[in-house]
Order: sequence, then structure tokens, then C-alpha cells
Amino acid sequence: MDSIYKALAEELKKSNYTVVMTGAGMSTESGIADFRSRDGIWKKYDPMKVATVNALENDYDNLHGFYSMRDEARIQRKPHKGHHILAEWEDKELISSIITQNVDNFHHQAGSRNVFEIHGSIDKFRCKDCGEPSDRESFLGKEPCPECGGKIRPGIVLFGEPLPEKELYGALEEVKKAELVIIIGTSLTVYPAASIHSNTDGRIIYINDEYDGHKKFDMVIEGKVGEILLEVDKFL
Ligand SMILES: [Zn+2]
Repeated sequence: MDSIYKALAEELKKSNYTVVMTGAGMSTESGIADFRSRDGIWKKYDPMKVATVNALENDYDNLHGFYSMRDEARIQRKPHKGHHILAEWEDKELISSIITQNVDNFHHQAGSRNVFEIHGSIDKFRCKDCGEPSDRESFLGKEPCPECGGKIRPGIVLFGEPLPEKELYGALEEVKKAELVIIIGTSLTVYPAASIHSNTDGRIIYINDEYDGHKKFDMVIEGKVGEILLEVDKFL
């Protein structure tokens, strides 16, 4: 196995512009449940009832309960060694940015700076009507917006909403510039996030606990994300 870790380390050293893309599999090793696996969140909750624009407008209590639970789960966890290694790689200028589908804020917590949160962040809150920035306590306490009396929502992208333009275009620009894209912990099933990497002319490496073989990559490493990054780091 050592040779594949070394090969990835060599790719990192050779590339002048490397972008990392992360999905739910990056955070499962921190104890955050993913969405679509056997024990995933969407097996227990119907996303149409708790995570849509319709729920926000017509079933706020359901949505509020769901995201209060998600917020609680996140507060109890923290970034793992893999998050910290990625932050170190940015410091050492081995990677330029991280594009993440995760809303848990772990990349920021680990010290990464150039992060594109294309599905938003559960660490940001705003009024659903006037957009006034708000905070966690106001959301959890169901306080009305001081500006307009509207309800406070989490700053994540709900089903039925477009991805935030600034983050999405920023992510696309990064991928276009990339000589190397490393995809970590995503089954690449949720669009448009799943198609962003196809905008690169660079090499693409895929790291995940499972690989179904449907999509082709220049290199695939199967296993636990945190351990793989740790092994690769030994060659840098
Ligand atoms: Zn408001």
C-alpha cells in the first residue's frame, strides 16, 4: 500500500495548483452521519419534510427541529486528523483551496482558510425574509428577526435552492486552474456538486471508503480518509 501513498505525495509535489473537494465521507470519521449510506440521515428523516424551501415556508417547526439536532451533533464533534492535515497542506502551499459539500465548518475549525462551502454552512444564520445576519442562539431560541420579525434559518442550501453563486463560481474557477484535483469522501451523486470536478484539465484522484468503478479517475485510493491522508503526509 505504501507505494500508492507515495505516488499521491509525488503528485502533490509535482502539481503547481491542487484543489481538494470534500463530501460527507470527510466528516463521518468525526462522527457526523452522512446522508445516503445505509445508516445515513436520509434513511431516518424525509428530506422533503425537513430540508426544503417548502418546509421553511410551511413547516418551520419540522425544519427547526431537524437543524437544531444537526447543530447539536456538530457542536459535540470536532475535526479529525485528516482535516488538520489538509490545513497544514494549505500552509505549506501544497494545496490551494478546498471545495466542500459539508456544512459542518470543520475545515475552518481545523485552520483551512481558502474554503468554498458550496452547500453553505450550519455555522451561519440569517433571517429567511430580509436576509439580516443572525446567530445560533437566536435560531435555537426561535427568536424573531429584530429587523422584520421573520424567522431565522440556517445558512445551508436547502433542496429547491440554487447553490450560492459566489461559492459556486469560485469553486469552478479553482477547478479550472487546477493541475490536480483530489476528491475525498463523496460518492459524487448530488448535482451540481458532483460535476464540478469535470471542469478540470488536470489529473483527478479519488479517495473514498468505497469505489463503485463507474467513474474513471487517474488514481483511486479506497479506505479511511483520515488514515490515508496521514499515510500520504509521511511522504511530504
Ligand atoms: Zn428579517
